[in-house]
Amino acid sequence: MKKISLILTYLFLLTILISCDNKKYTEVVEVPLPSAEEKVVMGMPDDVKAEEGSFQLEKLPYSYDALAPNISVFTMENHYSKHYLTYTNNLNKAIAGTPLENLTIEEVLAKLDPSIPEIKNNAGGYYNHSLFFKCMAPKAGGQPKDTLAGTITKKFGSFENFTKAFKDEATKQFGSSWVWLIVDRSGSLQITSTQNQDNPLMRNATVPGKPILALDLWEHAFYLDYQYKRKNYVDSFFNVINWKKVGENYEEALKK
Ligand code: MN
Repeated sequence: MKKISLILTYLFLLTILISCDNKKYTEVVEVPLPSAEEKVVMGMPDDVKAEEGSFQLEKLPYSYDALAPNISVFTMENHYSKHYLTYTNNLNKAIAGTPLENLTIEEVLAKLDPSIPEIKNNAGGYYNHSLFFKCMAPKAGGQPKDTLAGTITKKFGSFENFTKAFKDEATKQFGSSWVWLIVDRSGSLQITSTQNQDNPLMRNATVPGKPILALDLWEHAFYLDYQYKRKNYVDSFFNVINWKKVGENYEEALKK
């Protein structure tokens, strides 16, 4: 209980800091501090539903607290039920009544006009998060098995080399971005990155291909847990990578 109230106090202070910054210190807003008796009320992932439209949220295959301490319950709840939901609702709105509304998300990404930000950003946001959440699991991490393990060793020399290359790609990112492991058009594995909510399935991708592993490097993905220590977040991500799922994604990508 002490721990929860400490976390709540911390979140409260963070909110004050952010609101102070926005209001340039011109206004003081009094917010009651949460008491130790107050409980954090958090819904269930399955209760989160997008408004009516072409796309619905992909089911979260674990509970919000399942990836802690690598990713906290607060980050997961915010990320899934707020950020992901918003991208999904906004995508549905942006494509309603257009020829894109009856396509799969992969088709939408391949066909969309990159000069229309409402569609590009929200279609990317929807696809990227749908993949990202499924790339993680509780009691996961470790190393891939089966075909993917062999391909990674062949391409990068070893799993350790791959890990280093992936983390290096994450380290060199500036601002909101994603790091990917993809199967490129020649069927080869590549590590690549994109800005904002872009992804390798879009027409304008520098390195096009089918993503099989995604890492979200937007601050909303880690700031509550790691603040400016993005490297620690990237290290922790490797503790929760669901290599079984990534391996299945790899097999799927090879079929196409
Ligand atoms: Mn995100």
